[in-house]
Amino acid sequence: MLRKNTLSRKDRYTAGDGLWRLGCVVALLIVGWYTIDYLLLDAQWSLIDGANFVIHESGHSLFGWLGQTLGMLGGTLAQILVPLGCALYFWTRHQRFAASVCGWWLGQSLLNVSVYIDDAVVMALPLFGGGVHDWNYLLGTWQLLHRANELASAVRIIGSLLMLAGLGYAVYCIRKGPKYGSVNG
Ligand SMILES: [Zn+2]
Repeated sequence: MLRKNTLSRKDRYTAGDGLWRLGCVVALLIVGWYTIDYLLLDAQWSLIDGANFVIHESGHSLFGWLGQTLGMLGGTLAQILVPLGCALYFWTRHQRFAASVCGWWLGQSLLNVSVYIDDAVVMALPLFGGGVHDWNYLLGTWQLLHRANELASAVRIIGSLLMLAGLGYAVYCIRKGPKYGSVNG
């Protein structure tokens, strides 16, 4: 059994570095698989969307205090603000890899939103509690229902680009090592 004090400072750093890389590679494989699933296999629902759904519904409750329109928009706003807030949180703490994964999550969440916007006219998606369709209400209020498909496509493109950028930056962070982005790194 290796005693702790037999490792030099450099060796201990290297062992920790290896563990960090291993954890990041596992996370990257999961994120990579979801990227393929969404962008190439056209998936429309995954486990991550379960989390997005809970955040979405919380957003309605939170923004509902600010009026009907913001209440309806609140679900989508929460789906944007929560991953964005997480990305900023990790970024300001110099945890670049975690920030890149949250940036990827923001993109994935936007893809989820784009599916909902695209459904604004047809309204074929099953709704939680059978309530009002957010985007049918919002685009109807703004007299933009005829632009639903264009808006959905734009949101999907932005989401896809964010997912790819997050994935690419995550790979870059792994190559740079655990100290990348820190005050001393
Ligand atoms: Zn909603």
